[in-house]
Amino acid sequence: TPRVFSGIKPSGGLQLGNYLGAIKRFVGMQGTMETIYCVVDLHAITVWQDPADLANGTREVAAGYLAAGLDPAKSILFNQSRVAAHAELGWIFNCVARVGWMNRMTQFKDKAGSNAEKVSLGLYAYPSLMAADILLYHATHVPVGEDQKQHVELTRDIAAKFNHDYGVDFFPLTEPVIDGPATRVMNLRDGTKKMSKSGDSDMERINMLDDADTIAKKFKKAKTDAEPLPETVEGLKTRPEARNLVDIYAALDDTTPETVIAQYAGAGWGTFKPALADLAVAKLAPISQDMARFMDDPAEIDRILAQGADKARAIADPVLQRTYDIVGLLRG
Ligand code: ATP
Ligand code: MG
Repeated sequence: TPRVFSGIKPSGGLQLGNYLGAIKRFVGMQGTMETIYCVVDLHAITVWQDPADLANGTREVAAGYLAAGLDPAKSILFNQSRVAAHAELGWIFNCVARVGWMNRMTQFKDKAGSNAEKVSLGLYAYPSLMAADILLYHATHVPVGEDQKQHVELTRDIAAKFNHDYGVDFFPLTEPVIDGPATRVMNLRDGTKKMSKSGDSDMERINMLDDADTIAKKFKKAKTDAEPLPETVEGLKTRPEARNLVDIYAALDDTTPETVIAQYAGAGWGTFKPALADLAVAKLAPISQDMARFMDDPAEIDRILAQGADKARAIADPVLQRTYDIVGLLRG
């Protein structure tokens, strides 16, 4: 049976790319498949997190999940560090994955920049823990943004090498699910970089908790060229910033870029940007209001995460036990 796993790091406030590329799609898969969604706090600490911010950020991601429509009765919702099996299987996968594989990860290169000697060892090994997150549940499908494709492919490589080395057919080869118009929402100030929670400037992203005025201001100041919107989507090919704003509109409105262009062909940015801001506020305001309500009751969020962790452990612990048996590690 298909089983879905995915996660978001509490490494800063949720941004529009997390919503359109991940959370909104997580909600869409709920009910039709078994769904497991995690707040991956152990991944967040691969870069420094202030402890109070980490705890608060963990609750914020959980609140985002709940406010967007994830239902703890239909999906397993929990934070990663509550289920010790993630870290345990992650270690075993550190011993399966090859250094050469990690060296090819483009996200590590992006995040480490010119500082690769000074970043944490955890940041380097992160894809191996991510493989553990997924394979601990024998997940078959992982909905992610385009930026995570390479890590899900590495998860397949780890599963295949483990199965081969130990002569078993134990871990499945997981499929990344990357679909819709917002698989890579770009930075509002630089159309060649993706929008990220941890980006330097707040003006480059829309945060899910931004108020209406802030959203309008950020879209107004978003970088664009001076041309009006083209007559067809082909006309967006060499215009990354324009393409991004049209894609965001399409994703928010549950339509296609073709439909958006059909509606706004020839329009100037003075028309399109306020329309985009209004649409974003209409879609995000109910969610951010709900998020704020959940955040007002941290004990309730903690209770939901703890209950989700109990359900997660019921699946994960036997898989870890079986893995230890396969590897020849005595326990129990
Ligand atoms: P960080 O900057 O700390 O890496 P992030 O914004 O990239 O934060 P992650 O927690 O790394 O967020 O990713 C959570 C999910 O959101 C992943 O599935 C990822 O692919 C997706 N995602 C992140 N940014 C975007 C984006 N700009 N467009 C579409 N999906 C995105
Ligand atoms: Mg990221």
